[in-house]
Amino acid sequence: MASITMKNIVKEYDDGFPAVNDISIDIEDGEFVILVGPSGCGKSTLLRMIVGLEDITAGDMLIDGERVNEKPPRERNLAMVFQNYALYPHLTVYENIAFPMRLAKGQFSEADVEEKVQKAAGMLELTEHLDRKPANLSGGQRQRVAMGRAIVREANAFLFDEPLSNLDAKLRGQMRAEISQLQRTLNTTSVYVTHDQTEAMTLGDRVAVLKKGLLQQIASPRELYEQPANLFVAGFIGAPSMNFLPGTVETSSTGSMSLNTPLGQIELPEHIAAAGKGRDIVLAGIRPEFFAEASTVDESKRGRGSVFTAELTHVEWLGNEQYGYISYENDPRVVDTLQDLAHDMDADDLRTQLVVALEAMSRVRGGDSTDLWVDTRRIHLFDPATGENLT
Ligand code: ATP
Repeated sequence: MASITMKNIVKEYDDGFPAVNDISIDIEDGEFVILVGPSGCGKSTLLRMIVGLEDITAGDMLIDGERVNEKPPRERNLAMVFQNYALYPHLTVYENIAFPMRLAKGQFSEADVEEKVQKAAGMLELTEHLDRKPANLSGGQRQRVAMGRAIVREANAFLFDEPLSNLDAKLRGQMRAEISQLQRTLNTTSVYVTHDQTEAMTLGDRVAVLKKGLLQQIASPRELYEQPANLFVAGFIGAPSMNFLPGTVETSSTGSMSLNTPLGQIELPEHIAAAGKGRDIVLAGIRPEFFAEASTVDESKRGRGSVFTAELTHVEWLGNEQYGYISYENDPRVVDTLQDLAHDMDADDLRTQLVVALEAMSRVRGGDSTDLWVDTRRIHLFDPATGENLT
């Protein structure tokens, strides 16, 4: 086991554009850290620099406190588990797992090999399949063989590069659970690259969100979800995504603070309003589940939020949950301002559609006008110019 420390790591490819830009991350012994972000954000490049498959342009890479920038991969003793598993089709499961020990010629006796392979196979529930060839295994079993190979190497850390992206949704779910369980049993430091936020949220002790080579935030899944540092993280983590509703913070005639939005006034708790006061336009980030049909909310709870009326353009029923969609129009002045301000927001962030979670039993239909309650304590206000979370 080992700690992995990245200090101000930069990677520039030949075009001079930083694919990884000044990233510092401390990974503790035994920790499971996920690198997540959209395609091209630099997550694979970062993983390849940890393992030694890519030169580091600037910064320091430390394994257990020792600088390894110039160390070749084999001297770092890290085990990489790839998307395609990199199994040898002509070798049995046993020989595939034993492979790293065969490579280290003469270092392991046949008895050592037998003992380690059997132990790894036992942990991975592959004992019955040791004589099979990879072609005769399921995707999940192949994945476990690849992990077995990493286990027998007794590597300092496991590095996973999108290992589940070839699997169908059901198997991906199963393998996610297996990897998570195995990592906890073995307690081996692990770094896992994915573009899938669900995988990131369910697997990691901590999740590092990257965008265009820059680290946006590193935190526990819960903290990322509840306290996203900026618009990008807020929009990337969670499905369906957080809604971003433009508005201005105003003091109403009764003296309470509210957010003036295209959907009407939403009353805000004072500490949230204070964060957006005096600003021209803010973006209110509200997750779909922080809305509810007002009629379903207890009287005692209702006071802790704000109610507004809206027409649902359509409703999606998914069996165990239901989502309502509301279209709205932004004031042309707001559109102009947002376009000027919005640093590099995706068109999606500016969509004029709100998604609200409804109870599965709800009978509302598309076209219905309904009173919606919003839990205003859970609203975040973002600066549209910098993307920063102000709350
Ligand atoms: P994906 O999920 O698509 O694999 P990623 O987040 O892993 O994306 P990287 O593969 O690390 O991203 O790439 C980061 C940036 O560096 C991209 O803009 C990519 O085009 C560029 N890049 C990656 N490899 C090279 C290379 N060998 N030469 C030049 N540019 C590269």
